Amino acid sequence: MKGCALEGDELVIGAATTYQAFRETLCELWPAFDAMLERLGSLQIRNRGTLGGNIANASPIGDMPPPLIALNTILVLDGPDGQRSMPIEDFFLGYKETALKSGEFLHSVRIPAPKTNETLHIYKISKRLDDDISAVLGAFRLTITDGVISDCRLAFGGMAATPARALQTENALKGQLWNENNVAAAINVLGSDFSPLSDVRASASYRLQVAGNLLRRAWLSSDSLPREQLTVTDYA
Ligand SMILES: Cc1cc2nc3c(=O)[nH]c(=O)nc-3n(C[C@H](O)[C@H](O)[C@H](O)COP(=O)(O)OP(=O)(O)OC[C@H]3O[C@@H](n4cnc5c(N)ncnc54)[C@H](O)[C@@H]3O)c2cc1C
Repeated sequence: MKGCALEGDELVIGAATTYQAFRETLCELWPAFDAMLERLGSLQIRNRGTLGGNIANASPIGDMPPPLIALNTILVLDGPDGQRSMPIEDFFLGYKETALKSGEFLHSVRIPAPKTNETLHIYKISKRLDDDISAVLGAFRLTITDGVISDCRLAFGGMAATPARALQTENALKGQLWNENNVAAAINVLGSDFSPLSDVRASASYRLQVAGNLLRRAWLSSDSLPREQLTVTDYA
């Protein structure tokens, strides 16, 4: 359960592998993880914390589940009745509640490699840059073919009792041109997907606003946008 290796078009990471041990291999496949992992806990936490612990912990604000949901990652569970697999989004049943049966454990994680025209964006929002749990984390896997969003998976942490996809917002984007107006229209749908809580990290209204801003950030940082349209304010 320790180690990671490419198997065909999947990266398989053992559940007991530390962040630091899988970081390089994962980032070769999906470079967007690098900046996020740099802000996951601290070097000490990244040297000790494991992928399996971050997922099985089932925190709504763990940093690994949203991007893994966006990538349609498969979890391999093991236990008295043998192995079974499930998409990671089906693993989270409720607040800190998982699909693990009695005696079962998370064995490994199978992450698909990028396909043609697929990109991944991961943005973490927390009060401090270092060693701080996310208020909101947005992870977006976009497939853009000839300027059209042919497929997308948008996943968030901090917006619900579990890490979760924004299914209605995804539907608002699919088949549309990847442009500012359509991104703005999709952002307006986010309120139908989520009713976030207010807590010590952020208010509900802040969470909803920042979640939309993260989607806009993905648009602003994407190659589809002519560079001359970017201003310093756009990046703020
Ligand atoms: C100071 C600090 C800062 C942190 N900052 C962040 C952060 O910024 N972002 C973030 O995402 N996380 C953060 N964390 C959480 C951290 O990354 C780990 O996810 C967490 O501490 C769990 O550690 P662990 O992997 O050793 O799992 P453990 O503590 O060993 O386990 C956690 C839970 O998962 C269960 N479990 C572990 N492995 C498995 C498995 N293979 N199968 C079934 N169940 C299993 C255990 O039984 C336990 O219930 C932080 C933690 C600390 C202490």
